[in-house]
Amino acid sequence: MTTTKSYDVIIIGAGIFGLSCAYECSKRNLSVLVVDAKKIGSGASGGILGAMAPYTPDQWHEKKEYQFQALCSAEKHWKDVEKLSSISSGYGRIGRICPIIHERVYKLALSRRKDAKKNWGKFKWDVIKKHELVSLDAAPYGLIYDNFSARIYPSKACHSLAQACSLNHVEFRENTKVTDFDSNTIYGEWGKETASSIIIASGYEGFDFIKSYFPITIGSGVKGQAALIDIDLRDMPQIYANGIYIVPHSDGTTTIGSTSERNWLEPYNTDFQLHELIKRAEDICPTIENAKLIKKWAGIRPKARRREPLIGKIPRSDSIYLAMGGFKIGFGIAHEIGISVADLIENKPNRLPKSYTIEHHLE
Ligand SMILES: Cc1cc2nc3c(=O)[nH]c(=O)nc-3n(C[C@H](O)[C@H](O)[C@H](O)COP(=O)(O)OP(=O)(O)OC[C@H]3O[C@@H](n4cnc5c(N)ncnc54)[C@H](O)[C@@H]3O)c2cc1C
Repeated sequence: MTTTKSYDVIIIGAGIFGLSCAYECSKRNLSVLVVDAKKIGSGASGGILGAMAPYTPDQWHEKKEYQFQALCSAEKHWKDVEKLSSISSGYGRIGRICPIIHERVYKLALSRRKDAKKNWGKFKWDVIKKHELVSLDAAPYGLIYDNFSARIYPSKACHSLAQACSLNHVEFRENTKVTDFDSNTIYGEWGKETASSIIIASGYEGFDFIKSYFPITIGSGVKGQAALIDIDLRDMPQIYANGIYIVPHSDGTTTIGSTSERNWLEPYNTDFQLHELIKRAEDICPTIENAKLIKKWAGIRPKARRREPLIGKIPRSDSIYLAMGGFKIGFGIAHEIGISVADLIENKPNRLPKSYTIEHHLE
């Protein structure tokens, strides 16, 4: 199928990064086509965890500031999206508790209270003695509590955002794999489409897709597995302990996540590592013991080589942009990434931290 229509922007990939770019471009009255090899939200973004947690409030720098502003503006962003789409994203600012297991961390946590006052404004970082969700054995030095962290339900958020985009006249084409691209055209077995700007937001598969533009491997995929359980903790804070998240959702379910696997063969299967994770989560939070398992899920996180998101105009091109590398924090920053990429396209100043830029990843 070949058409003669040309768009302002074509976006390759309908995950949270691609959808966020589409939403922002559509708000700026740009005509947008989003294509996905599979379905909307069928990559890493179609998951079930959705923690939106800040960096620690000390040693402040531009990367922390960018994420802080994103986590602040997320509340209004998702409210606007839900209002337009009439679909819940599951967003909620529920806070977070982190058990403390070393005296050193306890002292550090106490000292960070004043950093939060300085850098987090109205949001609080505190140390509490205990919490009803966490076993005393798991938190011998108490817990860090913050009222800044939020949660979202990733797959629902993608559908809410896609619907908002459609209502803003964004066009979608699913089951449309892009096999090649140049400055203004994307190609596939289905034909080709043209646009003034192209945004590559193709998740971990995108790293392979763009490799001819880079002298080094610019990123890879890190697998994660998570489990959805039937226990209603929706008014409780999320828990983060030793790499494990327990995230209560607004629909009365709770997610345990995630494994972090550099070596994997099967992207979407789950295995014994998830069961070990669930067991460790139950030791921390006995309330979830015996909760019915609703669903197991696995996906591949896009991790750029220097761990930070990879955002900007591709080298040797005037019109191809990257919006990739969300890794473990994609949902907290995606809407700001959408704004930054749209700013780049429109040649406006943007607030991207240096560590997100392509130049930084090539250093
Ligand atoms: C288990 C797990 C838990 C996670 N937990 C959290 C969390 O708690 N908080 C958080 O913020 N983040 C979390 N993440 C990370 C988050 O999911 C990612 O940062 C985010 O989803 C990345 O979004 P993306 O749009 O870049 O990629 P994706 O969602 O993977 O989207 C890329 C899309 O591009 C499409 N595509 C690829 N190649 C092509 C092609 N050639 N042509 C057309 N389309 C193509 C794919 O089909 C896919 O739909 C987690 C990830 C996993 C796996």
